[in-house]
Amino acid sequence: MSKVEKNDANMGKCVCPSCPSYNDCARGKSEKLYCAGDVGKSSCAYQMNGCICSQCPVHMENNLMAGYYCMHGSADEIEGKMAM
Ligand code: SF4
Ligand code: SF4
Repeated sequence: MSKVEKNDANMGKCVCPSCPSYNDCARGKSEKLYCAGDVGKSSCAYQMNGCICSQCPVHMENNLMAGYYCMHGSADEIEGKMAM
């Protein structure tokens, strides 16, 4: 089971589209919820212009530690070693 599930509830809570790093490529593909196991890293070229994951309900509810999932991959991939 993934740390973060890809479902409609989490999709609705994800604040990626309001992030300063979110770009037209991602918007065009309706991408978000990068922290979810079934999503992960974006296929778009991202620049680090800030990450607002720490303000997201999904981040809090799932005790996530990181950010920039759009560039680095899902929570399973980048926080997997911290999971107990
Ligand atoms: S933690 Fe980040 S990637 Fe995950 S749902 Fe929230 S804003 Fe989106
Ligand atoms: S994962 Fe973080 S940096 Fe990437 S779009 Fe979502 S909020 Fe922005």
